[in-house]
Amino acid sequence: PPRRLPVGLGDRGYEVLVGPGLLARAGGLIGPVLPARRVVIVTDESVGPIHLPTLRAGLAAADIAILAEIAVPPGEASKDFSRLHGLLEAMLGAGVDRRTAVVALGGGVVGDLAGFAAAVAMRGLPFVQVPTTLLAQVDSSVGGKTGVNLKAGKNLAGAFHQPRIVLADTDTLATLPARELRAGYAEVAKHGLLQGPLWEWCEAHGARAVAGEADALTHAVLESCRLKAAVVAADEREESAEGGRALLNLGHTFGHAIEAEAGFDGSVLHGEAVGVGLGLAAALSARLGHCSQEWPSRVIAHLAACGLPARMADLPRGFSVDALLGRMAKDKKNRDGRMRFVLMRAPGDCFTSSEVPAEEVARLLRDE
Ligand code: NAD
Ligand code: ZN
Repeated sequence: PPRRLPVGLGDRGYEVLVGPGLLARAGGLIGPVLPARRVVIVTDESVGPIHLPTLRAGLAAADIAILAEIAVPPGEASKDFSRLHGLLEAMLGAGVDRRTAVVALGGGVVGDLAGFAAAVAMRGLPFVQVPTTLLAQVDSSVGGKTGVNLKAGKNLAGAFHQPRIVLADTDTLATLPARELRAGYAEVAKHGLLQGPLWEWCEAHGARAVAGEADALTHAVLESCRLKAAVVAADEREESAEGGRALLNLGHTFGHAIEAEAGFDGSVLHGEAVGVGLGLAAALSARLGHCSQEWPSRVIAHLAACGLPARMADLPRGFSVDALLGRMAKDKKNRDGRMRFVLMRAPGDCFTSSEVPAEEVARLLRDE
């Protein structure tokens, strides 16, 4: 049986199911939380051919009807308004009604796009996440953030729309490209740093997860989701400025700037930018005297052991420090125009700060 983690959001609470073989049993697992036995499936053109047949059979076994299967091109470019429009037209054209659930089968791109479509179609349809990347299993499928990108920035149009259930089938990770698996692991390491004991586990077993060992992956997904579920339950809509969901931004002030500068062309994946961001956040914490001087090298060593970039020099090309600083100054998570960072004292002891002098960040990025 799968492991079940509750996301405690009162009458909108739901479970994250983690384990192998869940797609083949999907109908029995999701049937109890659906208002009606009919769904539309949204996937991408890479994931669909591999995993849709198993999901289809799993739903059929529990007499759940599939009104439509809609595949978008793989990649970040599909998180876009015209794609959303096409998806909504296809869903409504297929005879979706208010009791039809939208099932997202894929990575974070499919989850964010299909979730947003579910949030706005007929003012809200029930939604099911079936994440197939490590990043989606440990991060994007839990928490209810959905959306698409605008020219002005990533995820700038969206909605909170919590799923009814999340099926994290760890078997699906076996077909994920190794680079995508490593990139997703950056979020596991982030959760480890936020949580404490999970960081110790990462140092001991993380490299096995990245190598695709099933027991290590299952543990990584389960414990990551446990941390994320607790944070989301305490601060569903990121209303807390200091704690709560804001802490999930560890490594992301730097990471988002690097990603944006790289231009979302696939040269630097989100998780790779986050790897560097985690290394920089540790280095910044040490410079500001919040943790020991040895701490950054320990974080960097672990990420490197897992095949992730952890320093600017590990990235495939150089970046302008001024351009990165400019991006960070405009980060949508800033308040009152000041850059916000999540800093660390020790694993399990992180905090947000908007008191970081820009010159210190500049010196860090220039590696002075
Ligand atoms: P993705 O969805 O683009 O998937 C990565 C690639 O792997 C794609 O080419 C996809 O086709 C392929 N793929 C997926 N599953 C596969 C499988 N099992 N086997 C083989 N190939 C497979 O990327 P991602 O890293 O999963 O997600 C990134 C997105 O998630 C970004 O848009 C980011 O903004 C979003 N995100 C959202 C949240 C949130 O809270 N909603 C959190 C973090 C990230
Ligand atoms: Zn992230």
